[in-house]
Amino acid sequence: MKIYVQTDIEGVAGFCFQENRANPSCENLEHRHRMYRLLTNEVNAAVKAAFDAGAVEVVVNDNHGSGYNIFFEDLDPRCRIIHGRNCSGPHWLPLLDSSFDAMVMIGMHAMGGTPKAVIPHSKWDVNNGSFYLSEGSMAAAIAGDFGVPTVMMSGDDKISEEIGEKIPGIEKAVVKQALSPYQACSLIPARACAEIAEAVKRGLTRRNEIPPYKIQGPVTLNLLDSPSHAPPLTYQGEAVTADTINEAFMKFERAMQWTTFDLENMIEGYSFP
Ligand SMILES: [Zn+2]
Repeated sequence: MKIYVQTDIEGVAGFCFQENRANPSCENLEHRHRMYRLLTNEVNAAVKAAFDAGAVEVVVNDNHGSGYNIFFEDLDPRCRIIHGRNCSGPHWLPLLDSSFDAMVMIGMHAMGGTPKAVIPHSKWDVNNGSFYLSEGSMAAAIAGDFGVPTVMMSGDDKISEEIGEKIPGIEKAVVKQALSPYQACSLIPARACAEIAEAVKRGLTRRNEIPPYKIQGPVTLNLLDSPSHAPPLTYQGEAVTADTINEAFMKFERAMQWTTFDLENMIEGYSFP
């Protein structure tokens, strides 16, 4: 059994402030490292549970911001991790293909504009407003195109509700109750990790009962967001149409000016963060 672990940081238990990478103060650095520690522990709980449930290969995708958030030296050495960027823009789900048996998502956050959700951002408009996807449900839909079921997710109660509506059989670890965009009632990290481990085991055991999340093509896609992520959200590009959501996603991302894909040679370097 081969498992893909998609990760983000905003949905981790204890996370309730937008990361400020521009602030070099000791206090901010300490805070950010603390959040990375919480993320690392939740991801590691998922990785260990996947191996306990029979996985022979686990690939973790460090997907937030810089792509370099997880203290991977502390992860279970049986897994592998994708980190860094190719090159500067949001390049999701590298290496994901139909060879994976299931996807697990840790630290998911609600879509942009969701009231009382922790740091909600990104809202994918599908087929001119017929429905919307969060980053989490978009990842599940891309995996669905490959025939890969998304069997487990963790995050706050708002993203859990959205994904639970779209993927009714998915196993969830609701690690915090969102009270505002910047306030939450969280499980204590040890408890959050225990709940994640149990949900991963249940999800992988039930993977044949949870169908891949499929969106029928052709798909028209656009992204709603704002520089601060706060409303009003506006369209971030021109709408694109393609036969599948995977193709539409890549077509949209390629048109974004900050995105460079398939980089084989250095251009002007890439610096952290
Ligand atoms: Zn993030």
